[in-house]
Amino acid sequence: MAAASDFLTEPERKTPVIGRYDIVVLGGGPAGIAAAAAAAQCGRFVLLVERYGFLGGMGTAAGVTNFCGLHANVHGEIRQVVHGVADELLANIAACGGLNAPHPVLGKTHAQAYDTAAYKIAADALLAESKAVIQFHALAVGVVMETKERIKALIVETKSGRSAILADVFIDCSGDGDLAAFAGAPFEKGDDAGNLLYPTMMFRVAGVDPVAAGEAWRTIPALMEAAEKRGVKFPRKGAIVRPQKHMSEWRVNVTQVKNADGRAVDGTNALELSFGEIVGRVQAYEFFEFLRAEVPGFADAYIVDIPPQLGIRETRRIRGLYQLTAADVISCASFPDTIGVNGWPIENHVAGDVVWRWPDIPGSRGFNHLPYRMLVPQGLANLLVAGRCASMTHEGQSAARVSGACFVMGQAAGTAAHLSLAAHAACADIPIAKLQEALESDGAYLGRDVT
Ligand SMILES: Cc1cc2nc3c(=O)[nH]c(=O)nc-3n(C[C@H](O)[C@H](O)[C@H](O)COP(=O)(O)OP(=O)(O)OC[C@H]3O[C@@H](n4cnc5c(N)ncnc54)[C@H](O)[C@@H]3O)c2cc1C
Repeated sequence: MAAASDFLTEPERKTPVIGRYDIVVLGGGPAGIAAAAAAAQCGRFVLLVERYGFLGGMGTAAGVTNFCGLHANVHGEIRQVVHGVADELLANIAACGGLNAPHPVLGKTHAQAYDTAAYKIAADALLAESKAVIQFHALAVGVVMETKERIKALIVETKSGRSAILADVFIDCSGDGDLAAFAGAPFEKGDDAGNLLYPTMMFRVAGVDPVAAGEAWRTIPALMEAAEKRGVKFPRKGAIVRPQKHMSEWRVNVTQVKNADGRAVDGTNALELSFGEIVGRVQAYEFFEFLRAEVPGFADAYIVDIPPQLGIRETRRIRGLYQLTAADVISCASFPDTIGVNGWPIENHVAGDVVWRWPDIPGSRGFNHLPYRMLVPQGLANLLVAGRCASMTHEGQSAARVSGACFVMGQAAGTAAHLSLAAHAACADIPIAKLQEALESDGAYLGRDVT
């Protein structure tokens, strides 16, 4: 076996340039979909680069199948607080017949389940309507810099070979901050001790008898406790087992994947990821057997889907001009450079459990502003970072990583990239009032009307 210190030198080669765009977006998750759609709707020539053959990010590739953070509990009233591009995508998913009605979460807010196939079709359609170009099956592997602060090209590996894509502005929506890290942006991982939020292998079961199952999500925790007393071991508490739009199909969010030393599998470590996929599937099958044996309505159920990849909640968080914190989430902070809101609480996936911390309900407005500065990485002029790898502390990210806030960040990053080109300015120096005006005229909600 080769030692970690073994290297070989590859021969120098010329890399073909396969395109030149105004704006290149890396990653087709909620942040990337919104960024590419918004930038293209501003009239820019936009390319979205995605390693898989479909959009949706963790929402499809990791089988999340549920939008959180679209709603907030505003002084006791649950409202949808994320609009703009998100509304267009929701309408497309609904038109495909794949959007469930919003459902209550812990009696405090709402989430909204969807079918992955509908999400993929709806996101393709949104980008086609917006006239953004998509390059699927392209893994970003590096950048070529023009100066220390400016990125010139994104390097991708595809079945057609290694190639370069030029752009004036880049938006990193890779979830892992790959592009920003290639470009030398500073980043953090995990809490003060480096502990990442734990990953989960999602799965869905079909063939559930909806009448017999009833509101099984309420009774499953007690059934798990009873099984534990008999010696059954579960990867974590806080099981989320809920029906999709078609009541015979349920999603199961209950596994927790760790290394032999108990630490979370790191989604930027290829060996750990490979190990995690296998452990995740073992855990999924074990929990499925528990569901079938113990939970009314599940006796004839079967696993209909284990998604293409392990669900990764947190890897690199790029250091930007502002880091969103836990205190910002809990205190429902306001920022003058608001680009939209996060209404999801802190949802911390710690060893063996999920720990929630909410703003005061109904005493608060239930959401914090997301400041533009969290999208602007330190030290780079033509890069924005949106989504779960944006500038947040570990706990701030455990709230604003969910889809709702990622749509907000993506739409703002796409619009801001357009404004930086229009103003011939670095991303850090764009006129904030103009950004806010553009976002509001495109239907986004900036949360400035409620205190
Ligand atoms: C198990 C689990 C359950 C969750 N439950 C919920 C939930 O119920 N509701 C909710 O709203 N959120 C949930 N989340 C969180 C949410 O799904 C993610 O935080 C969100 O999808 C992040 O969006 P993003 O666009 O920042 O990144 P991602 O969704 O991670 O998308 C990044 C995209 O970039 C692509 N990419 C990455 N690197 C490269 C590269 N080098 N080259 C090319 N392409 C690349 C990926 O393939 C992916 O498509 C959950 C997450 C997990 C893991």
